[in-house]
Amino acid sequence: MSVMEMSHRSDYFQDIMNETIEKLRQLMNIPSSYKVLFIQGGASLQFSMVPMNLLNNHQHAYYIHTGSWSERAIQEARKFGKITLIASSEDQHFTYVPSTELTSFTADIDYVHITTNNTIEGTRFRSIPDIGSLPLVGDMSSNILSEVYDVSKFGLIYAGAQKNIGPAGLTVVIVHEDLLGNYSNHYPTMLNYQTYATSNSMYNTPPTFSIYMTKLVLEWLQELGGVGVMEQINREKASILYNYLDESTLFKSKVVVSDRSLMNIPFTTDSAELNHNFLKEAEAIGLHSLEGHRSTGGMRASLYNAMPIDGVKALVEYMKKFEVTYR
Ligand code: PMP
Repeated sequence: MSVMEMSHRSDYFQDIMNETIEKLRQLMNIPSSYKVLFIQGGASLQFSMVPMNLLNNHQHAYYIHTGSWSERAIQEARKFGKITLIASSEDQHFTYVPSTELTSFTADIDYVHITTNNTIEGTRFRSIPDIGSLPLVGDMSSNILSEVYDVSKFGLIYAGAQKNIGPAGLTVVIVHEDLLGNYSNHYPTMLNYQTYATSNSMYNTPPTFSIYMTKLVLEWLQELGGVGVMEQINREKASILYNYLDESTLFKSKVVVSDRSLMNIPFTTDSAELNHNFLKEAEAIGLHSLEGHRSTGGMRASLYNAMPIDGVKALVEYMKKFEVTYR
């Protein structure tokens, strides 16, 4: 019987579930005061669940606006309460992460929301804003498990699994237990974090196969040496591409150097035609998925945990040859 056929209530699957949570706890060093929840609906459903569960005392939250995904989070949260953008990099097309001098913080808000890595724009928070005792919520969808984070700096972390954790269909939420239990009776049971916290994420059938695959990915990461080792590898991968971009006269990155993402590296030439040729010839030699997001154009290399160093080296080799031919 495969994991897809097993009852999620069976002992076999209970073990898989518990081991998966335990491995994530070990890898991210998650304190025991935090619950690990497995939810469906993607990170996009968290754009709603976060305000539904956390906007309870003051009906007011701060969001730091750093790109297309924070935009979605903000639009959704506005359906549930007052949302103030305390910092934004929209003025420079999200090519940097705004500094967050949080001295102006009051205690009259429920939480502060950041997107730790901006998948489309290729930026990341190089340090986590210190907001004192207020809960910090982090959308970590595109860089969870790629570098070491201190979970205790966050009240809640969420991430769609499909980049660094496992197959699509699973969303991981790590939430401090103090943030649970203030949910409106009028909202759906399935969108209450408490429902997941009290049932070990098995109030209904969880995405069993995605959870099993996640367990295997987490085992792979443990065997590799953990998140710290993965971070070193990711830094090396990213620096191979950034070093080349810095010396290239054909390709450019628009992102401010200090805020560069380790996971998503957008780059471009000055010519739409050259970009087109670059992508076409890349496909022909087996370098796929290099097209930039439709909102930004150009190219984007995503160097998620599963991308080996050789993949980045192959890309840079190809870019060098392309530059010699077309410069
Ligand atoms: N936030 C970020 C930072 C993302 O990169 C993505 C997906 N690329 C999302 C949210 C949305 O995730 P999902 O497709 O799981 O809803």
